[in-house]
Amino acid sequence: MNRERSQKLYERALKVLPGGVNSPVRAFRSVGGTPVFMESGQGCTVRDVDGNQYLDFCNSWGPLICGHRHPDIVSAIQKQLDRSLTLGIPTESEVKLAEFILEGFKESLPSIRKIRFVSSGTEAVMSAVRLARGFTGRNKIIKFDGCYHGHSDALLVKAGSGLATAGIPDSSGVPEAMTSDIIVIPLDDEQAVSEAFKAYGNEIAAIILEPVPANNGLLLQRQEFLQFLRDITRKHDSLLIFDEVINGFRLAFGGAAEYLGIEPDLITYGKIIGGGMPVGAFAGRDDIFKLLAPDGPVYQAGTLSGNPVAMEAGLAQMKLLTPELYANLELKRKRIQDAFNDRSYDFQMTGIASIFWFHHGEAPRTSGAIDRDSMKTYAALFHHCLDRGIYMAPSGYEVGFLSSAMEDSDLDRFLETVFEFFDGK
Ligand SMILES: *Cc1c(COP(=O)(O)O)cnc(C)c1O
Repeated sequence: MNRERSQKLYERALKVLPGGVNSPVRAFRSVGGTPVFMESGQGCTVRDVDGNQYLDFCNSWGPLICGHRHPDIVSAIQKQLDRSLTLGIPTESEVKLAEFILEGFKESLPSIRKIRFVSSGTEAVMSAVRLARGFTGRNKIIKFDGCYHGHSDALLVKAGSGLATAGIPDSSGVPEAMTSDIIVIPLDDEQAVSEAFKAYGNEIAAIILEPVPANNGLLLQRQEFLQFLRDITRKHDSLLIFDEVINGFRLAFGGAAEYLGIEPDLITYGKIIGGGMPVGAFAGRDDIFKLLAPDGPVYQAGTLSGNPVAMEAGLAQMKLLTPELYANLELKRKRIQDAFNDRSYDFQMTGIASIFWFHHGEAPRTSGAIDRDSMKTYAALFHHCLDRGIYMAPSGYEVGFLSSAMEDSDLDRFLETVFEFFDGK
């Protein structure tokens, strides 16, 4: 496969963009080689600048659940282009998207009654944490090792030396003061959570987690563990925040909360909610949102928040998310997962809804249980697939996403290519 123009673009990019990219994983550092520069996407495929076509399992890291350039989304954007690009003044588009989402939550998430739109997942999480602290009047937040919550200072944190101790910055440039109120503990560990509450109970504003952690492998949690988090936060008047930036509208319309039947107090969204445009949101209980500016003292704002082009794109995608779509995607994922696991390779595929992940051995539930050495095998699988017209995320810690634009024949081609790799290994 000739990728000469990609190579040349990468060289140009390196001169003006740090690492040649605008978000680190895109740089192929964990799989090696040169990033592919894409020119376009349509349905389930993307085309690079050299004219090579790939079946796309990255789907822009999750947002494109209906595939690239779904005609309904493209036409909604085109209509909006005749009205305005941005006004910074209220528009009907924001109201329509908020109404559509909250109406869709009415049965499964009855207490989620307000939503605010922002422009990224990072912003959504940062704002939800501020709101939780403002509402409870407490500072400490419990976060789990293996969950990603965007790149805001306070949440770029890793575990300290012992259980239930203050987290330490996970990035240069983050002062310790920013992370000292974040308690980082392992997933799947009720005892660690109990200890944290024993030590700091009336100081803990909230527990935040990805209910289905999907940013550091796919670490499916036990239902009892998630229910335990719901119960212990209620008992201590702390809030439960589900970071559903990936899970939201992916597992079900009401995200993991609906899929798992656990209603948190606050939920953050991103990715799918914008239909491919940069949108994030946080939603929650009415009494909590009373504290958000302009109604209350917790400040939060955004020049381009609720941007009408992005709202129209989001609304168009939301309207496509029917129960049939989810059922179909789940069937497709189960089909490839079963076919792969039937082969009994030393790798397994774990999945939920339309998310899948390759891993070595048993399905891990904590980040510590991930086999780091298996990442070399993933890198080889990645390049095997790339050279045969299949684009997966360029890191073994990232999950794959199916889109409704994928047909069984596309998935069969994917399986054949993957089998060929493992059979020859
Ligand atoms: C992607 C992601 C974020 C960050 O969202 P950005 O739009 O990249 O800022 C936060 N939390 C979770 C769970 C995510 O998957």
